Amino acid sequence: MCDPNENTPRPPTNPSDEEILKVCMKCGGACCKYIATEIDEPVTFADFENIRWYCTHKDTWVFKDDDSWHVVFNGPCEFLNADGSCGNYDDRPQVCRDHQFGECDYYLNGEFDLELHTLEDVDNYLRLRFPNHFRKKRLEAKRKSKVRADSDASET
Ligand code: SF4
Ligand code: SF4
Repeated sequence: MCDPNENTPRPPTNPSDEEILKVCMKCGGACCKYIATEIDEPVTFADFENIRWYCTHKDTWVFKDDDSWHVVFNGPCEFLNADGSCGNYDDRPQVCRDHQFGECDYYLNGEFDLELHTLEDVDNYLRLRFPNHFRKKRLEAKRKSKVRADSDASET
């Protein structure tokens, strides 16, 4: 994704194919370097188990933007040329044809409402979102350790 600290450029009005190609080459093909696919919105604590799983994998992360959640797999397309152009333009998949130049990474600031990159990110987020779940776990752990301590004391 493009550097959010850079001044966000504005897309040209009614750009020609040549103009688009020029910008895409300057951009380096940011939108061809990952796959993002929408996932169901997680609601319950259990719904986050898949997200915990995704985020244990290298180059795999999750973002939320408005109300939609996506899992992202970083990795360049096999057909992305070093100059940022497409090496399979005439036979590119429909997803690439539907992709809107101008509403793409190059022109967005690259920031989402929420980004979860690691298991630690997910668990920190869960602690904030489901504080009672963690409070119950803490109480249960305390109770178990007291039972163990009482049982050890009665055996001595
Ligand atoms: S469509 Fe946008 S994000 Fe994709 S390569 Fe072109 S300028 Fe970059
Ligand atoms: S097929 Fe072309 S446009 Fe589609 S992701 Fe690959 S390089 Fe990009």
